[in-house]
Amino acid sequence: MERPFYLDMTLDSWTQWVKAQGFGAFVAKQIFEWILKGVQDPQRFNISKDLKKILVDSFLWVLPTIDTRLKSSDGSTKYLLKLFDGKFIEMVLMPSMDRVTLCISSQVGCRMNCSFCQTGKMGLMRNLTSGEILSQILIANQELQDAKVTNIVFMGMGEPLDNFHEVVKALKIMTDPQGLQLSKHKVTVSTSGLVPEIAALGKEVAVSLAISFHTPFDEERSSMMPVNKTYPLDVLKKALLEYPVQTRHGITLEYVMIKDKNDSLRHAKALVKFAHGLKVKVNLIPLNPHPGSPMEPALAENLATFQAYLEERSISAPVRYSRGQDVSAACGQLAVKRKNELGVDPRLLWRDRRSVERSTK
Ligand code: SAH
Ligand code: SF4
Repeated sequence: MERPFYLDMTLDSWTQWVKAQGFGAFVAKQIFEWILKGVQDPQRFNISKDLKKILVDSFLWVLPTIDTRLKSSDGSTKYLLKLFDGKFIEMVLMPSMDRVTLCISSQVGCRMNCSFCQTGKMGLMRNLTSGEILSQILIANQELQDAKVTNIVFMGMGEPLDNFHEVVKALKIMTDPQGLQLSKHKVTVSTSGLVPEIAALGKEVAVSLAISFHTPFDEERSSMMPVNKTYPLDVLKKALLEYPVQTRHGITLEYVMIKDKNDSLRHAKALVKFAHGLKVKVNLIPLNPHPGSPMEPALAENLATFQAYLEERSISAPVRYSRGQDVSAACGQLAVKRKNELGVDPRLLWRDRRSVERSTK
């Protein structure tokens, strides 16, 4: 049997494992601390020689590798990471004056099939394990050398709440004072709107929440985001009203501005109506266009009118340009580009797709 990946272990599972080897539970805490400090070699842990040897033999002590590193003119760096099975995920490191934000992936691909999204075109290849999710933070911290990641956003590839169990496992380690010690309001899960999982997330680990919103009209939202057929806007709103709000801004609604699609004043008015009674902020994101798609970003003047309408009604609505546009930062774009460069059809990116899908069922 293949050795388990060392980052997939929680403190509880280390405790059980250590006890089974005949050692005291406190050793598990030491191992866990070394690991989350980023030490990847058990020889460097201050534990007994015997246990070091068993550890080396029992677990897989490697991280996903950096396949491509692209520095953007805006200071962010986009990484294409290669997982142990050869599949690719993306992460984006975005340092700024007062924080270092890391945008991470939760799945290889995504099955939610939103019309404007490149990752959605890939379908779901497989879920990431909690260790693969956490490994993105450890790799970023290695890259940063002197600094450390302070904020996490789940806005890379995948729908985090469609991989609920592994994402929650990773979130607990991220926010655990014995783990990575990130504050809950500095970790944001972004979802297309899986209502039962939003409620469950609020109970399990109430981190900050962002919703891919994109239009206040049910029919239009269902055509852009099939998930809306299952969880329409009134059902989503109820879930948001019940979510334990973490930050002063409440919940973030992400609104990708698409020319002649969702950028009218009629949309802005209906959005204000949706927001009534909620503590929300709206991030206006000009669409990141991708090759082969007829959709274009909204014009600057429509963006400005839309924004002014919201702000005049006391809804904070900053315009957020995707960081790293010059290096294909919108989710899924780099993975597809990489394969195009290699001369492979993006639809065939992951050759063993079917076998993996079977094994994740
Ligand atoms: N699946 C989750 C998180 C990953 S997507 C979700 O949908 O929330 C992260 C964000 O990127 C979402 O708000 C998504 O709507 C947005 N996005 C997807 N394609 C985009 C594009 N072409 N341009 C700009 N933003 C895009
Ligand atoms: Fe998946 Fe989010 Fe893209 Fe929709 S926007 S396809 S949920 S990654």
